[in-house]
Amino acid sequence: MLGAQGLKAAFSRYADPALAGSAAFALAATCTTAWLRRRDAKLREAAVNAELRLANERLQATVEELERSDRIKGEFLNTVSHDLRIPLTTITGYAELLEDRTGPDPSPDQREAIDAILAAAERMKRLLDDLLDFARMEAGRFRLDLQPVALGELVREAIEGIRPLASRKHQTIEARGDPNLPEIEADSGRLVQVLNNLLSNAVKFTGNGGRIAVTWRKEGDQAIFSVSDTGIGISRRDQARLFSKFFRVDHPGSDAGHGLGLAISKALIEAHGGTVRVQSEPGRGSTFTVRLPLKASRSPEPTGGLPPEATGR
Ligand code: ADP
Repeated sequence: MLGAQGLKAAFSRYADPALAGSAAFALAATCTTAWLRRRDAKLREAAVNAELRLANERLQATVEELERSDRIKGEFLNTVSHDLRIPLTTITGYAELLEDRTGPDPSPDQREAIDAILAAAERMKRLLDDLLDFARMEAGRFRLDLQPVALGELVREAIEGIRPLASRKHQTIEARGDPNLPEIEADSGRLVQVLNNLLSNAVKFTGNGGRIAVTWRKEGDQAIFSVSDTGIGISRRDQARLFSKFFRVDHPGSDAGHGLGLAISKALIEAHGGTVRVQSEPGRGSTFTVRLPLKASRSPEPTGGLPPEATGR
């Protein structure tokens, strides 16, 4: 940068030396101010960068901590679900032994007690299965075994499985499907799991004498199946959170679940490259529609991704 004397010399060709001096001084002052501004901007930038670096380090530490606690949660869920299975098997085994020992005509009290033990053990088994799936999906350790599957047969099997429960509530289950639906590429065990979840919800949330219908058909390169009921329905507000993990609506009189079934079903359907949606009207019933590609569009690699946790409860 030119010094004040240099500037004065540069301006010396001005006729009036005093004018040249003050012009040189003004220019020097302007240059100095600009230099000071640039230096201030650089200092500010350095301070902001240092703050950003610090914030980044803190964020990184938080992410690592969250990943660590997530891992611990997954391992804990895994261990607990496995360890609880052993006493559960013992409980079920002895309840069945009791059933055998009481002979063909148990007293009403005996029947009620044995049924209560078996039903509680079955509920617990379902919860443990869901917790294990949940832990696997959260950890991304979940794999599909893709095979050609006859969807219609799977639906009929699932319906037969749920029929005793529906009969107890005098509900009818109607099955209507396209007999020419080609086999789809899917994990049959996982599809049965989805069907069981949708059907058991339909039975659970539909009153005595209600109707349940299952349909399946082909549309373009997709197989579509739906489970409808004439049950209590779901409000628009609840529909928005229905597939979030741990979401459930406490309906008086119905057996409160743990709110994992639909979240797991959605993750399973999406792992097949499909979608699920619900249409419902409170007091009139609900229809869950699942669309699956005839040919799985994703590789059966380990996958994860449960829908986010429901908020606002
Ligand atoms: P769970 O049944 O174990 O609570 P789900 O994830 O399967 O868990 O279902 C979550 C909630 O969605 C249920 O608690 C219920 O409130 C609601 N729901 C699911 N299916 C139906 C249905 N067919 N009719 C009315 N409500 C339903």
